[in-house]
Amino acid sequence: MVIVVGGGISGVACAAELNAHGFEVELLDRGHKLGGRMASRVIRDSGTDYDGRVVDIGASYFTASDEKFLTVVEDWKARGLARGWTDAFHLASPQGVSGVRAGPMRYAAVGGLRSLIEDLASQLPNTAFQRNHNVELVSFTDGHLTVDSRLVDAVAICMPDPQARAILDVRAPEMAATIEATCGVVWEPTFAVTAVFQTASWSPFDGVFVNDDSVLTWIANDGSRRGDGAPVLVAHVNPVLAAGHLADPAAVIPRVLAALQRILALSEQPIWVDIQRWTYARPLIAWADDCYLDDDTNVGLASDAWAGGPRIETAWQSGTALGQRMAERLTAAT
Ligand SMILES: Cc1cc2nc3c(=O)[nH]c(=O)nc-3n(C[C@H](O)[C@H](O)[C@H](O)COP(=O)(O)OP(=O)(O)OC[C@H]3O[C@@H](n4cnc5c(N)ncnc54)[C@H](O)[C@@H]3O)c2cc1C
Repeated sequence: MVIVVGGGISGVACAAELNAHGFEVELLDRGHKLGGRMASRVIRDSGTDYDGRVVDIGASYFTASDEKFLTVVEDWKARGLARGWTDAFHLASPQGVSGVRAGPMRYAAVGGLRSLIEDLASQLPNTAFQRNHNVELVSFTDGHLTVDSRLVDAVAICMPDPQARAILDVRAPEMAATIEATCGVVWEPTFAVTAVFQTASWSPFDGVFVNDDSVLTWIANDGSRRGDGAPVLVAHVNPVLAAGHLADPAAVIPRVLAALQRILALSEQPIWVDIQRWTYARPLIAWADDCYLDDDTNVGLASDAWAGGPRIETAWQSGTALGQRMAERLTAAT
């Protein structure tokens, strides 16, 4: 039995690769939905026309340059699930918007980014998905690998390093190298604040990188991102501010709304506001290796802290690489 822990894009990509090599997989995720940081939520009880609308509250968009990942993206585009959003974002200082910067094409998902993970998962008949399943301990005793006391042949742990480290058995000496591999990368937090307005009182924009601001780093126009023009903004909070309020994210909402008003020169206050905490939003550095696999225990690690991350594309590459290495290792061992 091969288990993948984590149903974000790296875990689902890992399961897909293992399936492609003929291995059946059980994928466990503690969330009630798959997707991890490719998270979307539904607006509810806002008192606006936008109840029932999906908004992206984790990753904002994705880029694609790897040939294999581009194949996946082209398939999503062909089936109307993803679309090229924009290749130009505005720049802002604390005083306001100051210019535009061109870059690579950024893709968005018509049904929210989570829908892309659900789509990938739906294509894996040889993966059994267990949602609401919190894994507590991955251990190695008397030559046997276990996941919560269940004997397994291999386990791929696909999530931020601090979350992976929390489930590795520190009492098992054989785990030492894997635990070591989860150290050395610092992860920064953020909060994503969704603000629903009655009307869009801002000048047209897709997204704004906010520089040198103590409150915000980024503002996405979710109406432009999703293509429906809804007056919905999602602002990401400066990691330093977020780190100081992890126990009480709601406390920063007044400062976020004031910053939105200041930077975008808004004439209206939002009608509905929601905040999402991301304790481990992004690794500050990433290893050049695509993934980690311990040959003695068959425990692997994948996430956006590998493959040069920290992006959706590299998390996909990392999971795919781990699935391939694990499949080759298991095949060689039989
Ligand atoms: C606010 C924010 C903005 C971002 N913006 C962008 C962007 O614009 N572009 C971009 O490319 N990337 C962006 N990223 C990064 C991108 O989201 C990640 O690189 C990518 O989604 C990582 O996927 P993953 O599968 O490695 O990890 P995750 O998506 O974190 O998946 C890990 C999964 O493991 C599960 N899990 C954890 N512990 C356990 C346990 N004990 N038992 C069972 N399950 C467990 C979690 O529930 C989760 O589903 C952003 C991230 C955040 C948070």
